[in-house]
Amino acid sequence: MNTVPPLDLGQQYKLIQDEVSACVQAILASGRYIGGSIIEAFEQEFGQYIGVRETIACNSGTDALFLALRALNIGPGDEVITTPFTFIATAEMISAVGATPVFVDIEAQTFNLDIEKIPNAITERTKAIIPVHLFGQPVDMTRLMAIATSYHLAVIEDCAQATGATWQGQKVGSIGHIGCFSFFPTKNLGACGDGGAVTTQDSALAQKMRMIKEHGQSSRYRSETIGMNSRLDALQAGILQIKLRYLDRWNQQRQRVAQRYHQFLYSLPEIITPQEIVGGESVWNQYTIRVQSVSNPLNSDLKPRDHLRNYLQAQGIGSMIYYPIPLHQQPVYQDLGYQPHQLPVVEAVCQEVLSLPLFPELSSDQQDQVIEAIQEGLTQTLPL
Ligand SMILES: *Cc1c(COP(=O)(O)O)cnc(C)c1O
Repeated sequence: MNTVPPLDLGQQYKLIQDEVSACVQAILASGRYIGGSIIEAFEQEFGQYIGVRETIACNSGTDALFLALRALNIGPGDEVITTPFTFIATAEMISAVGATPVFVDIEAQTFNLDIEKIPNAITERTKAIIPVHLFGQPVDMTRLMAIATSYHLAVIEDCAQATGATWQGQKVGSIGHIGCFSFFPTKNLGACGDGGAVTTQDSALAQKMRMIKEHGQSSRYRSETIGMNSRLDALQAGILQIKLRYLDRWNQQRQRVAQRYHQFLYSLPEIITPQEIVGGESVWNQYTIRVQSVSNPLNSDLKPRDHLRNYLQAQGIGSMIYYPIPLHQQPVYQDLGYQPHQLPVVEAVCQEVLSLPLFPELSSDQQDQVIEAIQEGLTQTLPL
């Protein structure tokens, strides 16, 4: 039986192996492993790609969020509105700077923040909103920026899963005050290790973030503020520079895979397929369906999603659950006094979501295998 992995980074490496090897060899031979012209070149090229004046490379998407919050002077006593349906880092960094994340429910159709519900969550302590362009799908930034502007709030875009996605023709990360990117290997632009970046049009914010990421130094050995060490190293910058040139092609391949899933799955009554919103172009970091029912559940205690996931697994098809627990129900936020059962949409969605194999190199044969297995899994009992 051929198996279909949820993701296969080795295939992508084969395509760029020669370029990457040459680049890595040259950096190793240069003796310059931290800082230097390769970092500056990558920052410039990435900024050009996103459409911003300033890019600051750093060590991870998590650090990017931390730098953004610090640069905006967000700290104890402040509230930051964000989504409960994201990777923990988004809320975690709000808490790490001493502020309080305020979770607003999501829209089931887009998995993104329900923008209409934001105004109700704004208090006099609210300083910022962090929209997350989840799974590659852009948030409606026009409506979000209108609310932020009228309440004088900063907007930090979490673009970790959406490098290259656009809202009304503009790349995400160029619309809010600061954009935060992750180059974790599984993201659309992934390094061979950890990496991240912040983007902004504001040179004062950029200067602050540059300072904070290098021990608060305004010049060598002169520290103005408490900072940290968050650098992108030269090897990762070199590899990212190469991969950036392929990013549009890879994103287009992801879009083709997503369209094909849509074509074969959207009419199945048991599931809901994800769809792009008008004005947005997703880069499909994940293709996430909602499984609402199955015809022949073997075990009625099992959620339909888990029944399908087990069926797919038995057929050698990998799938993932992003995310099983909404952030307001995470143990850490329970300990911090967050009440459960108050965000009904995200709580329901977490029981239904299943992310299917999606990567640029996924072949149509592999995809057919996934589609057939889903069609069977929704109507048959487990073949075990
Ligand atoms: C991956 C991710 C992050 C964190 O990025 P790292 O580079 O892993 O630190 C933050 N937010 C979201 C939405 C992510 O998917």
